[in-house]
Amino acid sequence: MLKLSDPVDQIPLIGPAQAKKLEKLEIRTVKDLLYHFPRRYEDFSQIKPINQVRAGEKVTITGTVSQVSQKHTKTGKHFVSVLIKDQSGFIQAVWWNQPWVTRSLKINKEYHFSGKTNPFNQQLTLINPQFEPAGEPPKQTIHTGALIPIYPETEGISSKWLRSRIAAVLNRINGVSPSTKLLTDPLPDKLREKFQLLSLPQALYWIHFPKNRRQMKLARYRLAFDELFYLQLKTLARRKNWEKRKSIFQLDLRQTKNKINSLISTLPFELTSAQKRLSQEILEDLQKKAPMNRLLQGDVGSGKTVVAAIAAYATCLSGFRAVFMAPTEILAEQHHQTLSEIFSQAPIKIQIFTRTHKPGKLKSDLGDIIVGTHALLYDQSQLSKVGLVIIDEQHRFGVKQRAKLVKKAMEENFLNRNPSRQGTAPIALPHILSLTATPIPRSVALTLYGDQDLSILDEMPPGRKPVKTWVVPSFKRQAALAWIKEQILTHNHQAFIICPLIKESEAETLQSVKAATVEFQKLQKETFPELKLGLIHGRQKSAQKTDVLNKFRQRKIDILVSTPVVEVGLDIPGANIMVIEAAERFGLASLHQLRGRIGRRGQQAYCLLFTSKKSLEHKRRLKALERYESGLKLAEIDLKIRGPGELFGTKQHGFWDLKLASLENLELIEKTRKAVIEYRQIKCKAQNHNPK
Ligand code: ADP
Ligand code: MG
Repeated sequence: MLKLSDPVDQIPLIGPAQAKKLEKLEIRTVKDLLYHFPRRYEDFSQIKPINQVRAGEKVTITGTVSQVSQKHTKTGKHFVSVLIKDQSGFIQAVWWNQPWVTRSLKINKEYHFSGKTNPFNQQLTLINPQFEPAGEPPKQTIHTGALIPIYPETEGISSKWLRSRIAAVLNRINGVSPSTKLLTDPLPDKLREKFQLLSLPQALYWIHFPKNRRQMKLARYRLAFDELFYLQLKTLARRKNWEKRKSIFQLDLRQTKNKINSLISTLPFELTSAQKRLSQEILEDLQKKAPMNRLLQGDVGSGKTVVAAIAAYATCLSGFRAVFMAPTEILAEQHHQTLSEIFSQAPIKIQIFTRTHKPGKLKSDLGDIIVGTHALLYDQSQLSKVGLVIIDEQHRFGVKQRAKLVKKAMEENFLNRNPSRQGTAPIALPHILSLTATPIPRSVALTLYGDQDLSILDEMPPGRKPVKTWVVPSFKRQAALAWIKEQILTHNHQAFIICPLIKESEAETLQSVKAATVEFQKLQKETFPELKLGLIHGRQKSAQKTDVLNKFRQRKIDILVSTPVVEVGLDIPGANIMVIEAAERFGLASLHQLRGRIGRRGQQAYCLLFTSKKSLEHKRRLKALERYESGLKLAEIDLKIRGPGELFGTKQHGFWDLKLASLENLELIEKTRKAVIEYRQIKCKAQNHNPK
């Protein structure tokens, strides 16, 4: 008996070779195959007798084969020509370069043919039609006579083949008896009625083989509903679970308040009122019994680091450690430096832990605050007494990595747990504070981050000016570079030149490093011989990176050529010009992040978006940066144009499993949210009725 979780090669006529090819489409199980949805449909639902067929239509006809021949055109192109007959007349069909057709069609047998008609050799002809035998009695067709699904394909796996295998699985959905059913609808009838949803088996059938648009739309609706429903169900369950847990420490503000205030008073600036408000919120969270799980959203440069530092300080004062996670080594180093400055007058030891900075005796001489990268996650050393985990640029960490982090922070609690008390007291959890500059539209926050409390840092430190941004077409490129040179020579300005993003991935590719190196040499030699240029990329040794950055900070470098690694979080106060090459390859949110690197001392900054692409869509997208300075607005535009995976850079983490639903669809999000609440109530009632 076939199960949804079975590997695909359990399906009749799928062998190991095909299973391997299917993996390229990320199809591994029977369920994956069923959920491999059509990319589009060919509409062959129009069924006609032959004598009513007109030129240029997409039609389905049913007729018998009366002649099959193989021919060549004058130029030597091969084609199969077939004469088809029904009660109303004859029509010709031809297939280009598909000699196998002669073996599949039998003279005098009846078939359905679906295709587009065109004149050929002065006759009305069906060109390359799909066909399948007309059964007796008539059965459901899958290649002809309806909306015909066209799938994402890969080499050796055609839509035609996919249709036949998916149909084979669909035919088993209902099974011969209830016990052999392949799948049942997990949604209670009551819920389905209320939200007017097709049953799951019906929806799966119709999304692959709809007779008409209406069936296709109903099917897509049900399946899109499911996607958002389960996503939110998971989020809500996570939230409820978290709320039941106990935090590893509860802050005693009476004991610590004075010290926290005096730290704040040593800062070189006054906190903005938003920073004050959010610090307060976080300190309140830390006093609660349940662990904090808060997401702090604030535009680039809004000053999130210092808020996180205050939380870390409160943690240290309570006798626990704070772990501060950064997505890149450069950023970890910068945080290490920033925190060292913030805590220069407090007895707080700060330890950095990255691939290149691995403290020898981490265990015995751990810092009060540990600034780390992914390297910390995968290290064997144990962390103890972790009371707070801060995750900077949290969207750069996958769900799994976050879970691993929490687990790592709890390791010691696991180990030191008294075995005799096992099963009684749940393990205490550290508080979690996530930081992000990616503005989160309300719809996304509701759906995806519903397990976290959201704080918004909606105020910039005083004196910041919007970055003047221009889209620069290639013919103005030289003039723009000359302008930059002049700015640097006359005003002692500093600039970033960001090289193109070659492949969208977290890790820097060798390719992009090469590209940046070549660009750097060319710019230094040809364009800016009288200026001092520096180069930074992810494959440099850490010491080298730090050295370049320090020189840039100290103005010993005029222009820093960089791969897109500088994107997140980098803070170079003196830089006020940025060039971004091939800007169209970046998302708006990323571009906004990038330009957030300049003008950070309140001076006027300029961002030049170089692009050689002429397409209107690219232009429209980039122009948005000239117009808007709000990251939130830009994120909304990006969400519309590029979709959430691109926007949040989380595609590769499998964070989103949305094939049909869109996070823009506020109405559906709202509906599914209500459905989740009702679903939990129904389940709860059912459990109370028949206690185990
Ligand atoms: P982000 O929110 O992008 O992480 P940072 O925390 O790096 O921003 O802060 C950006 C810059 O603003 C830093 O140089 C920081 O010292 C400065 N800054 C932060 N808060 C204030 C403030 N209240 N007044 C003035 N400058 C501030
Ligand atoms: Mg930051």
